[in-house]
Amino acid sequence: MNCIFCKIIAGDIPSSKIYEDDELIAFNDIRPIAPVHFLIVPKQHIESLVDCDAGQQALLGKMLLLAPELARQQGLNGFRTMINTGREGGQEVFHLHVHVFGGGQTLPKT
Ligand code: 5GP
Ligand code: ZN
Repeated sequence: MNCIFCKIIAGDIPSSKIYEDDELIAFNDIRPIAPVHFLIVPKQHIESLVDCDAGQQALLGKMLLLAPELARQQGLNGFRTMINTGREGGQEVFHLHVHVFGGGQTLPKT
C-alpha cells in the first residue's frame, strides 16, 4: 500500500516517534506549525474520520485521551487538536490522524 503513515508504522520510513502501543503510534510532524506538533495515528489503515463508525468508537476515544497525556509529557500546558477530513477539509495524508500542537505562545483563534 502506498501510504506514508503505514510505511512509518512498519518502520520502512523513519520518524521521530514519541509513543507506541499495540493500536496507536505518535510521532512528530515533519513540518511543525508550532514548537510542539505531533500526530496520533492508529496502526490500522483507516483513511479518514468519515470512514469511521461505531466499530472505531473505542479507538477514537483512546486517540483523544492520549492527546493530553502526550501533550503533558511534551511540556505543553495547553494545546490544540485538529483532525483534517477529506480534501476539502485540508487532509493531505489519507490515513486517519489527530494533530496535537502548541507551545511558546497562545495560539490564534483562526
Ligand atoms: P493532514 O493535512 O493530512 O491533516 O496532515 C498531514 C501531516 O502529515 C502534515 O502536517 C505533514 O507535515 C505530515 N507529514 C507528511 N509526511 C510526513 C512524513 O513523512 N513524516 C512525518 N513525520 N510527518 C509527515
Ligand atoms: Zn495507512
